[in-house]
Amino acid sequence: MHFDEHAELRTKIIGLGENSIHKSYYAQLKERAVELERFRAILDRSSEMIILLEAQSHLIVDVNATVCNLFGQSREKLLHTPLEQWFEPNVVENLLAYCRKVGRNACSHCSQTACKICTTTEIAMDTPHGVFPIEFALQRATFGGIEYFVLLGSDISERKKAEAQIYTLAFYDPLTKLPNRQLLFDRISHALANSKRHRKYGALLFIDLDNFKTLNDTKGHHVGDELLTQVSRRIESILREGDTLGRLGGDEFVVLLEGLSLEKQSAAIQSEQFAYRMKHIVNLPYTLFGYEYTISPSIGVVLFVGDEKNKESLLKHADIAMYQAKQSGRNTIRYYDPLMQKAIQSKLVMEKELKIAISENQLVLFYQPQVDEQGNLVGLEALVRWNHPKRGLVPPLDFIPLCEESGLIISLGKWVLEHACEQVKKWETLWHSALHVSINVSVKQFQEAHFYPMVEGILKRTGVRADLIKFELTESLIVDHVEETIAKISKIRALGVKFSLDDFGTGYSSLSYLKKLPLDELKIDQSFVRDISTDINDAMIVKTIIDMASNFDFEVVAEGVETQAQLQFLTENGCRIFQGYFFGKPLPYKEIERIYFTL
Ligand code: C2E
Ligand code: MG
Ligand code: MG
Repeated sequence: MHFDEHAELRTKIIGLGENSIHKSYYAQLKERAVELERFRAILDRSSEMIILLEAQSHLIVDVNATVCNLFGQSREKLLHTPLEQWFEPNVVENLLAYCRKVGRNACSHCSQTACKICTTTEIAMDTPHGVFPIEFALQRATFGGIEYFVLLGSDISERKKAEAQIYTLAFYDPLTKLPNRQLLFDRISHALANSKRHRKYGALLFIDLDNFKTLNDTKGHHVGDELLTQVSRRIESILREGDTLGRLGGDEFVVLLEGLSLEKQSAAIQSEQFAYRMKHIVNLPYTLFGYEYTISPSIGVVLFVGDEKNKESLLKHADIAMYQAKQSGRNTIRYYDPLMQKAIQSKLVMEKELKIAISENQLVLFYQPQVDEQGNLVGLEALVRWNHPKRGLVPPLDFIPLCEESGLIISLGKWVLEHACEQVKKWETLWHSALHVSINVSVKQFQEAHFYPMVEGILKRTGVRADLIKFELTESLIVDHVEETIAKISKIRALGVKFSLDDFGTGYSSLSYLKKLPLDELKIDQSFVRDISTDINDAMIVKTIIDMASNFDFEVVAEGVETQAQLQFLTENGCRIFQGYFFGKPLPYKEIERIYFTL
């Protein structure tokens, strides 16, 4: 071999340059070996797996230490072995398919064959240390006319974990770990598509826990959360494979049953059986932080087949059925009924109209007289009516409950208070009247945070004598929040306003807190007064209420007095103030002025 050929070969093999010609081969080789060692050390310290693969034979030509550690094998053992020896067949299949693809296609982004960024694949690798998700990037390389693949594999467990966490956050409820609304909608869409294909019925069940708010308010949110978690686990325990339980939020859950019968009737029976099992299991007692508790569900069910209903309307219909279950006394199951939807529709219309009614002054106040034994007028109760442009005068029981449900009661209550105070002030100024006016205050309105400043503001603005204003509250308010209610009543009483307990006897008032309440008056509910002279029980109740009121030093008013006999019984038993048709119906202010103030 010619000297130049030697030099060229040497240069090729160990990379020695021309100026190294004067050094001894040994020293140069040593230096080169150190350099290689250093380079290998760098590669071995890389956390990436590096595998050099002969492209034709798929034999492993070189690996770094990370690969050896992962397989628990020495480098020597790995070299010159086929890929198949170390990887599961499906992984090899994936990798080779990937190699072939990389071999063929140039990257569409950078036009390079085997671009690292654009040619990555993910593989779950089974190693002695467990299964890892590895992302392989592949590059082609040619050394000495032979083609190789350089496989760079990174353990992406952490990234996968983060991705899973993001997925969980986006699609699962953090408290119960159940699918959230988003994922539920997705599952419902799939269920509809499946049902369209195989024509089997499915069912959507909407579950709302009865009086859950009471538990949350009285025992705290952590107890409420514990209950929701336990309820979830119980319902989950009775699901079949393929069924979905999700949480919409609050105490609302949804169950999606798929693949029921091809026949509507059987599907209805299947879903009903499930609903009963669910009701039963939710009804069983719970232990919440050592505290025994029971709760019931209201369940609405809607059946579906094919995809004629979209997911939104399906959920809406299940919700309507649930609402119907609530209306029928809770702890019940109801199927979606289109008539119910009509009723709800008209409720929605009414809600809209009510908003307008408040802003456009369609409300009117009527006043009902309250008299003493001699029939002298001692006060009035303000009772609201809605002067509907088409329907005429609408009584309060037809719209107050809707106002309470929708929250409109806040603005309605404010309107009533404002107008009643203005009226009292007017009578005070024009007629030197010292008549008090009773104003009904609903629970929601009283509990609202701004109630006190609102009252204070209206009293100030209208300049009315506060002691002529009396608020009528109902017992339900007191049952739920005794201490808070006492504090709030006291604060408002300090402004001069008086307090009465309306419809007394119908609620659940217990004597123990009745005596603690800073009240001025009890109003005996008209249902007791009605049968006072025929029903001995009602007579006894009324007698007891009057005695009790006098013991607690409360004024007592009998409501709904319609006959002389009722009046006589009440008078004989010590009642001093009366309200009812026997003395006068609720009337517009002009009528009140005409009858009482012009005499
Ligand atoms: P309430 O406060 O118990 O008012 C007494 C109801 O009994 C009134 O019905 C009155 O018209 C009726 N009534 C009075 N005397 C007799 C009688 O001798 N026989 C019979 N059968 N009924 C009699 P109304 O005006 O229909 O009001 C019903 C309920 O609506 C009220 O019951 C009250 O709870 C509520 N309400 C009325 N106005 C307002 C208001 O401004 N705000 C709030 N939150 N609720 C109101
Ligand atoms: Mg009242
Ligand atoms: Mg009443």
